[in-house]
Amino acid sequence: MAVYKNRIDLHMHTLSSFDGNYPAEKMFESAVANELSTIAVTDHFDVDFYERHNLGVRQQTSYEDVVSAKGAFSDKIRILRGIEMGQPTYDVELTERSLARYEYDFVIGSIHNLRNMPDFGDLDYKSMTEERIYELLGEYFNEMLLLARWNGFDTLAHLTYPMRYIVQAGRNEIELSRFDPVTDEIFRTLIANGKALEINTSGLRQPIGKTMPTEDYVRRYRELGGELLTLGSDAHFTEHVGAGIDEGYAIAERCGFEYVTYFENRKPVKVKIEK
Ligand SMILES: [Zn+2]
Ligand SMILES: [Zn+2]
Repeated sequence: MAVYKNRIDLHMHTLSSFDGNYPAEKMFESAVANELSTIAVTDHFDVDFYERHNLGVRQQTSYEDVVSAKGAFSDKIRILRGIEMGQPTYDVELTERSLARYEYDFVIGSIHNLRNMPDFGDLDYKSMTEERIYELLGEYFNEMLLLARWNGFDTLAHLTYPMRYIVQAGRNEIELSRFDPVTDEIFRTLIANGKALEINTSGLRQPIGKTMPTEDYVRRYRELGGELLTLGSDAHFTEHVGAGIDEGYAIAERCGFEYVTYFENRKPVKVKIEK
């Protein structure tokens, strides 16, 4: 049973993502069964894998599937046309041209890999020196700051993403406090630009056992004046649609947020957090 009213999940993937597993309608059915009021489909568009992932075609399929299926659900749930732009700063021209192809409600900005590097999930942290891990993390946070400054998205997704894999590899000695100046700068940039921070709840069902970013970061964002917050399960399976959203609302409340946000036609809409 849902704890909160107006549960919103703005991050999920369908078969149109290279790592998706279910068609859009199956994800929508799960969203209705899981008592969500609003969702966004946000299939991957990792710009630096445009050819390898055949993204010109996948983007079209994703968008058209959502638009054609959402009508049948319109009396049950609000379905938003979204996209997850991965590494957009690595090819801004291609990113902006691709975004202009369709009328999106909501654009996620994320970083899954450094330039010309594999996904953070495909690096071997077990044998890596501590110094190297911190070096990679430094580069990651710098890329997140560049992404925030680019500003062509609505929410900044899964900040601290590499930690999902670093913790999974047992490197529990790695901690992020040395990066506080840059994460503060990321938050200040989002706030100045009127953009949202995402609480990505996928970590709650993974070995890391925490949201990305963690509650401490959400609190800091709030302290600096952050008001816009989105929540996303990052579901790649029907059974994960809405997973962790109640926990995400609880974190938001504890950090002093009274509202969560969804985006329609790229404009923020605030929704009161209530039980
Ligand atoms: Zn992502
Ligand atoms: Zn995702």
